[in-house]
Amino acid sequence: MEHVKEYTNGEVTIVWKQELCVHSGICVRGLPNVFKPKEKPWIHPHTSTTDELVNQIKKCPSGALSFYYNKDKKDE
Ligand code: SF4
Repeated sequence: MEHVKEYTNGEVTIVWKQELCVHSGICVRGLPNVFKPKEKPWIHPHTSTTDELVNQIKKCPSGALSFYYNKDKKDE
């Protein structure tokens, strides 16, 4: 089974697929206040802005991180 976890700041939701993560640490170096691999949960979306989160998610090399805007989800 795929391990998919979601973390939201109320505006945007971060989706993390554990199987795809190659632990490159790019997210951790980019936004150390948000991505804390030693903690559980390891993603703290409230400590950054939505724009910063989205920009960082786009840099994930493996596709483990993705996102959607909560308002888009509600419109479905
Ligand atoms: S940037 Fe992506 S692949 Fe790298 S540690 Fe973060 S989630 Fe995993």
